[in-house]
Amino acid sequence: MPDRVPLRLTTSWDDGHPLDRRVADELARRGLPGTFYVPRHNVEGRPVMAAADIRALAAEGFELAAHTSDHVRLPGLSREQARRQIEEGRHWLEDVLGAPVRGFAYPGGHPGRWGRALAREAGFTYARTTRMLCLEPGPDPFAMGTTAQIFHHGLPALLRNWLRHGGGGGRLGVLSDLRSGAGLPAAMAVLFARARRQGGVLHLWSHSWEIEQRDLWAAFDDIMAMAADLVPADGRLTNEGVSR
Ligand SMILES: [Zn+2]
Repeated sequence: MPDRVPLRLTTSWDDGHPLDRRVADELARRGLPGTFYVPRHNVEGRPVMAAADIRALAAEGFELAAHTSDHVRLPGLSREQARRQIEEGRHWLEDVLGAPVRGFAYPGGHPGRWGRALAREAGFTYARTTRMLCLEPGPDPFAMGTTAQIFHHGLPALLRNWLRHGGGGGRLGVLSDLRSGAGLPAAMAVLFARARRQGGVLHLWSHSWEIEQRDLWAAFDDIMAMAADLVPADGRLTNEGVSR
């Protein structure tokens, strides 16, 4: 039998909703890593964790990273508005944590025209998109890709994600995995078998509020149990860890 190919695991959680606490507890229970992207406010109307709760996650070893000041999608903004959202989000979170913040995620997943340059200028070392279906973060640290959202996307949404981010044969295998099996954990099991064969970086992400809204906590629990079985402790990294 050949040695197992190297496989790393990272997870990310957007929007800083108070239910991120529940996600973090589950990750901690299984020794899994997590990066939490937190805005100061959310113009979409959802609550954001209190400063003390954000600090508690950081103290537990999770990565806390920026997600703009007000959770505004960058493609609709002027360059100056986008710059302000990105920089103010970073400064606010650094004040909350009393520590440098290196990571950023684009609200809605898309950098727009200026987002990548502005994220770099603001001092971040990487920025995550919502490009899915990847088993590597990709060559551009300001366009980090992901593997799969913990959410049961229909085929049209997956195809849109595949096309919008350049298509290409390499991501179709993951797309077909996510449409196989009965239910989300079964599809993830097929994807995880591919990750075990191919190696790379398995990047799972979602929103805690969406897991609640879609009643996906049991699926989330099953998927995290499988992830913990799949990836040894030395392959479990934050988003910043896989960006290097
Ligand atoms: Zn978001």
